[in-house]
Amino acid sequence: MNQHRAPDARTGTPVESIRSPFDGSEVGQMPVAGEAEVEAAILQAGKSFQTMRRLPRFVRADILEGTAEIIRGRKEEFARLIAQEAGKPLYDARGEVSRAVFNLRNAAAEARSFSGAEIPLDVDGSVFEYQSTRSDGGALDLAQADLEQLAGLRRRLGLARRYPIGPILAIAPFNFPLNLVVHKVAPAIAVGNSVVIKPAPQTPLTSLKLVDALEEAGLPKGAVSVVHCPVALAETMVKDERYAMVTFTGSAKVGWHIKSIAGRKKVALELGGNGAVIVGADADLGFAAARCVRGGVVYGGQYCIGVQRIMVQRPVYDAFKAKLLERIAACKVGNPLQEGMDVGPVIDSRSADRIESWIKAAREGGARVIAGGERQGNVITPTILEGTKPDMLVEREEIFGPVMTLSPIDSIEEGVRRANDSRYGLQGGIFTNDLRAALRALEEWDVGGLMINDVPIYRIDNMPFGGWKESGFGREGTRFAMEEMTDIKFLVVNYN
Ligand code: NAD
Repeated sequence: MNQHRAPDARTGTPVESIRSPFDGSEVGQMPVAGEAEVEAAILQAGKSFQTMRRLPRFVRADILEGTAEIIRGRKEEFARLIAQEAGKPLYDARGEVSRAVFNLRNAAAEARSFSGAEIPLDVDGSVFEYQSTRSDGGALDLAQADLEQLAGLRRRLGLARRYPIGPILAIAPFNFPLNLVVHKVAPAIAVGNSVVIKPAPQTPLTSLKLVDALEEAGLPKGAVSVVHCPVALAETMVKDERYAMVTFTGSAKVGWHIKSIAGRKKVALELGGNGAVIVGADADLGFAAARCVRGGVVYGGQYCIGVQRIMVQRPVYDAFKAKLLERIAACKVGNPLQEGMDVGPVIDSRSADRIESWIKAAREGGARVIAGGERQGNVITPTILEGTKPDMLVEREEIFGPVMTLSPIDSIEEGVRRANDSRYGLQGGIFTNDLRAALRALEEWDVGGLMINDVPIYRIDNMPFGGWKESGFGREGTRFAMEEMTDIKFLVVNYN
């Protein structure tokens, strides 16, 4: 881990030095929570929940909008911090900040309009032994019926109302230190929950900066807090029944483990994938190649919905490959703080070692590296492998690096079958103008989102977002997360 632990001279609290994955320089210092801070965080979250649940919608919406404005005004500051602690190229870090601003504004709008449902109750008379049909199956004889009694059956109002459930534990990954935290915090505030953020160990400073902005915009102090702690203490929090929910984004391995120890609380999991793309024989090959390269190399391939497995129909395979190679050769690789970079480092040397070893194993198994495959420090050059086999790690597992595999297919159906031959099912993409084939692919492809004429990295933050199979449990996307973070109380009013 690229951190160093030392006590803060003024407070005695242990602090960790957060370092750049590109050159190891210190980005900042972060206090490390121990058992006492973990306990204080849940006590504070419990107290704050009693305030949050009582705030009217306009107050919560104003806080979210105010935070969006503050972050918009500090866009460059946030982007530089993300670029430094996560090693994300500035262009993409700025994009992340803009998305977070939208996400907060959207949550404010949803806070104003989000509601439950009126459920009609006069749909069944049998509860009052009133037969809506005669025993011989004919219609009710209204001439014989007691109309006043019938009208009385209508005088019941049924309302499913949604209520915040309590303190939420939000565990975040390193790759979107701002926007993926906002994906948890903004819907929670929108419905009136309190939150404790457990940020990724590599990128906790952005979370602190987000909480500063929230408090500056009027969020009651302590309603959202940050606990940067060792994994063992994070597990203690996951098991703590005083949290009403744990919302986790990260790897499938950790996510499903968390679900197994979370007890009775709600759990939402946003996990990994090994995104597949099908390029049909009728596709716009230049566009498809450009999107595949962007989808495969953006932020060093460290997107849960990044492009990993590209399958191309045989008649256009060579033409597509030529365009893909041309595009990938044009990628600028290096320092994420330098303007115009497409690809920076991966998050740490452990990740770089793993990616390198998977490429090596594929090579030894007979695959050919037709682009990239080199490494300098933690920077892996955008890589394309040809001749891979389905059981290779680069096909089967989530690579989480700028590495794609390229294979020919005989039909779109074969592509969907191969895409499905994975324990993951986050998002997929298919380039074709054959609507029939594309819609049939949707029927068969087990994924949380399918992009026709685009790659799986496409995401607008109000979309329902989540995975099938081992890629997830529940949905994010503002309104969908708000549903997960609330529970229903059903009200019946008899006004007879
Ligand atoms: P990770 O699973 O290693 O860590 C995620 C978080 O969980 C970190 O904060 C980590 O400290 C914490 N953690 C680890 N072990 C824990 C435990 N036993 N108990 C409690 N907390 C624990 O993931 P990462 O390397 O930070 O992120 C990369 C992964 O995240 C990839 O698999 C990627 O696909 C996934 N991801 C998914 C989405 C999505 O929305 N589906 C988005 C981004 C990233």
